[in-house]
Amino acid sequence: MKTLGIIGGMSWESTVLYYQLINRGIKRELGGLHSAQLLVYSVDFAEIEALQHAGDWDGAGHILNKAAKSLQKAGVDMLLIATNTMHKVSRQTLAGIDLPLLHIVDPTAVAIREAGCEKVGLLGTGFTMADDFYKGRMQEQHGIDVLVPSEDDQSVVHKIIYEELCLGEIKDSSLTAYLEIIERLVEQGAQAVILGCTEITLLVKQQHTAVRLFDTTALHAEAAVTALLQE
Ligand code: GLU
Repeated sequence: MKTLGIIGGMSWESTVLYYQLINRGIKRELGGLHSAQLLVYSVDFAEIEALQHAGDWDGAGHILNKAAKSLQKAGVDMLLIATNTMHKVSRQTLAGIDLPLLHIVDPTAVAIREAGCEKVGLLGTGFTMADDFYKGRMQEQHGIDVLVPSEDDQSVVHKIIYEELCLGEIKDSSLTAYLEIIERLVEQGAQAVILGCTEITLLVKQQHTAVRLFDTTALHAEAAVTALLQE
């Protein structure tokens, strides 16, 4: 088995899910007492969040680059950034690094295409919904059109992520708000919706809606299982 380096802690509430999902996947594939060979470099999310909201993406990228360098030194074979948003600084993260990155958009896009969808809604942080690093890769590399909620709805989605989900708070009122926003994305023409923030899966589950959901945490973790077991 290869060794995975996870850059996590953004927030740790979802890094825990990655650790469980990847270990469960390896156990499912290899059986018995098998578990995943991996290292987690977990950052202090308060520092990252402050840099994000100050617009200092180079500063945030520098922290992730330091994590990547530590993981490279420790001997991992590949890297995974356990958040959608911080793929915005994937280039800075990989400066001076000679390791493949398991990009979160790619397994998500493959699942969307396999489901026969071409136009999907996106829920994530304001950065992920507004910027091009995510939607652009979906469109240019995978031919998938991405719809985002209205500005007001984006604010609601963003606020719930930072003020509740990243703190481990799960509220019924927030689930209701998310489900209403998902319905509005479908009204705009979305055939399915990407849970494009790794904590949303703590709040919204497939059983809550008839709209097809793509859970980036689960899809990214499953891609790591496959990569770890590749010859
Ligand atoms: N984990 C979240 C994501 O997938 C948001 C927290 C962050 O800014 O990294 O985008």
